[in-house]
Amino acid sequence: MQLVKRKQHIEKREVFITCIVPVYNEELNVCTFFSELQACLRTLTGHFEIIAVDDGSRDGTVAKILQLPTDYHIKLLQFSRNFGKETALMAGLDHASGDVAILMDADFQHPITVLPEFLKQWGEGYDMVYGVRENRDTESSLKRNFAKLFYWLMAKLTKIDVPNNAGDFRLLDRKVIDALNSFKERTRFMKGLYAWVGFKKIAVPYEVQERAAGKSSWGFVKLTELAITGITSFSNIPLRVWGFIGFIISSVALIYAIYIVTVTLIYGADLPGYPTTVVAIMFFGGIQLLSIGILGEYIARIFTEVKQRPKYILEQKHGFNDETDPTN
Ligand code: UDP
Ligand code: MG
Repeated sequence: MQLVKRKQHIEKREVFITCIVPVYNEELNVCTFFSELQACLRTLTGHFEIIAVDDGSRDGTVAKILQLPTDYHIKLLQFSRNFGKETALMAGLDHASGDVAILMDADFQHPITVLPEFLKQWGEGYDMVYGVRENRDTESSLKRNFAKLFYWLMAKLTKIDVPNNAGDFRLLDRKVIDALNSFKERTRFMKGLYAWVGFKKIAVPYEVQERAAGKSSWGFVKLTELAITGITSFSNIPLRVWGFIGFIISSVALIYAIYIVTVTLIYGADLPGYPTTVVAIMFFGGIQLLSIGILGEYIARIFTEVKQRPKYILEQKHGFNDETDPTN
C-alpha cells in the first residue's frame, strides 16, 4: 500500500488489523486481556480480527475464549497439542487476512498502549514495526546474561542482523506476512526470519510489564533449544570451523612428529611419555565427539525438514469462514 493511502486508511479507520495472540495455559489472563485488546483495536480501526492460537493448553483457556462476546471478533485456532509459540505465530500468520498483523503475548507483558504508536509508524511507511524492551528487569540475571551471550553469538556467526532485545512483539505489513508465509522451513526461528526478509523496519521502545498472572512457560531447556535453532538455521560456521581446527591440529601433530623423529635419530629411543599420550587421546577424542555432535545438530534439522510433516495439526477452528485448514 502506498504511503499516502496508508495515512488515509488510518484516518478513515479503515485499516484491517489482524492481531495474533498465542495462548498456552493462560486461563487467568485471557478474559481481561482480550477485552482490553479489543477495546484498544476499536479505537484504532473499524475493521479488525483477533486470532487466538491455542497452543495445546491443558487448562480452561479454550473454554474461556469461546465464551467471549462475538463483537470482540475473536477467531480461534486450536492446536491438537503443544507445538510451541513460534509455530503458533506461524499458524496465526497463515490465517491472517488483515492489511497488517500485530503479534503479541497474552500475559500483558507486551503493553497494549503501544499499539497506536505501532500503527502510526506503519502509516509513516515502515513495513515492520518492532517493540524493543527498555528493561529486562523482570527477568533473572542468569536469563539476561544468557540472552546477551545469544545475541553476541548470533551477531558473530550469522550475517543477519537480529536487533538486541526485540522479540515477537511487532506489527507486520501484508508484504511481510506474505514473505514469511512463503517459507517452507519447518523449524523456524522467527527472530531470524524477521531480519532475513528485509523491508523497512523501525524500533519502538517499550517497558516490559510483569506477567499479569500465571508463570512463564519458557524454561532454560526450551530457551537453549531456541538458541540452537537460531544459530543452526542461519549459520554454517559451526559446521565449517572443524575443518579449520582439524588443519591446525594436524599441522601441530606433523611438527611434533618431525621433532620426535629427529630427537630419536640423534639421542636414540626414549620410552617415557604415557601421560602425554593419554592427554592427547582424550583431547582428540573430545574434539571429535564435539564436532560429530555439531554435525548431528544439523543432520537432525535436515531430517526434520525432509520428513515433510505438517507444521502443526489443528484440532478445531472457530470463527473462520472456511473451517478446514488450508495449510496442511
Ligand atoms: N506460549 C505459547 N506456547 C508455548 C509457550 C508460550 O503459545 O509453548 C505463549 C504464552 O501463552 C504467551 C506467550 O507465548 O502468550 C509468551 O509466553 P511466556 O509469557 O510464557 O514467555 P516469556 O514472556 O517468558 O517469554
Ligand atoms: Mg510472558
